[in-house]
Amino acid sequence: MSVHAPALRDQHGRSIEYLRISVTDRCNFRCVYCMPEAGLDWLPKADILSYEEIVAVVEQLAPLGLRRLRITGGEPTIRPDLATLIAKLKAVPGIEDIALSTNGVKLPAMAAALKAAGLDRVNLSADSLRPERIAAIARRSLGFRPVEAAEAAIAAGLDPVKLNVVVMRGVNDDEVPDFARLSLTLPLHVRFIELMPVGEMAHLTDAHIVPSAEVLARVGQLGALEPVAGPARGNGPAQYHRLPGAPGTIGVITPMTHTYCGSCNRVRLTADGRLRTCLYGDHEVNLRDPLRRGEALQPLFVRALAEKPLEHRLTQLQVGGLRALSQVGG
Ligand code: SAM
Ligand code: SF4
Repeated sequence: MSVHAPALRDQHGRSIEYLRISVTDRCNFRCVYCMPEAGLDWLPKADILSYEEIVAVVEQLAPLGLRRLRITGGEPTIRPDLATLIAKLKAVPGIEDIALSTNGVKLPAMAAALKAAGLDRVNLSADSLRPERIAAIARRSLGFRPVEAAEAAIAAGLDPVKLNVVVMRGVNDDEVPDFARLSLTLPLHVRFIELMPVGEMAHLTDAHIVPSAEVLARVGQLGALEPVAGPARGNGPAQYHRLPGAPGTIGVITPMTHTYCGSCNRVRLTADGRLRTCLYGDHEVNLRDPLRRGEALQPLFVRALAEKPLEHRLTQLQVGGLRALSQVGG
C-alpha cells in the first residue's frame, strides 16, 4: 500500500481491511439452520459476478487498504474452477491473505489444488461426526467425513485449519466432547458457534441455543482449559482455549450471548455484487451495476462504510430482511 493511501475506516473508527466474498448462493447441503429444504429462489446466472468482475472489485478496493479476503457462499466449492479465482485474487497487489469457508465435502479432492493456487487457510463446517446425523442436519450426506476433510486440509499445508460446529440443544450438543477431543490429536482449531435463529429457520428457536459458557464448561470436563491467543492470522471474533498438551485449540463464537460489533472489521460482497456492511442490517450498496457501467467503485465503498452500523440487533430479534445466511455469505 502506498503510505499516502487513506486507511479504510468506518465512522466508528473501525478499520476495514477484510472482505468476505460470496461466490454463489447455491449449496450442495441444506443445513437446517441455514437454508429451507426447498423454495429458495437461486440468483439468475446473469446477476452473479463473474470471476473477472470479482477481481475488478478487489483491484479497486485494495488501494484503500483491503488486505484479507474470505471466499464463501452458499458453498463456494461447487462453483466451477474456484482455484482460478483464488490465483487471480492472490495476484492483486496488496492482497496478503485468502481464506475459504466450506462445508468440507469437496476438501479431500480440492485442498491441494486450492493451496497451490494461493489459498492460505480454511474454515470447514461440521455439525456431527456421525454419518446419519450429518445427513439429518444437512438434509443429505454426500459421503461427508469431517475428520478426513480436516486431515486433507492440514496435509495440503493450509494453516490454520478451523472446524466450525453450530451447537444445537437436543440435536448435536452431546457431541461437544467428541469435537473437542479432535484438538488433542490434530493441529485443528475447533470452534463452537452459538446458533442464530434467523430467517425461515424459526423452528430452531432460542430453546436450541447452547450458550458458549455452557459449551466451555462441558469441554472443561476433559481437562483444565487454558485461555490462549488463538491461531496466528485468525482475525475473527472467537475466544480460544487449549486442553493440556493439545496441538489444537477450542474456540467459541458468541453472536447471541455477547456481541463483538465494536471490533468488527468485516464487510461482505454478495454473489450478485451487493456490498453489505453488517451481516444482519439492511445496509447494502449495489456495486455490480456501476461496475458493469465502468464507473469507479471507491466512492461507493467509502460511502457504504460511513453507514456501517455500530452494533447489530440480532439479540433483539430484529433481523433485517434476512431469509438465510447462505444468501449473504455467513
Ligand atoms: N457453505 C459454507 C459453510 O457451510 O461453511 C460457507 C457458508 S455458511 C453460510 C458459513 C457459516 O455460517 C457456516 O459455518 C455455518 O455453520 C454458519 N451458519 C449458517 N447459518 C447459521 C445459523 N443460523 N446460526 C449459526 N451459524 C450459522
Ligand atoms: Fe450450505 Fe453452508 Fe448453509 Fe450448510 S451452512 S446450507 S453448507 S451454505
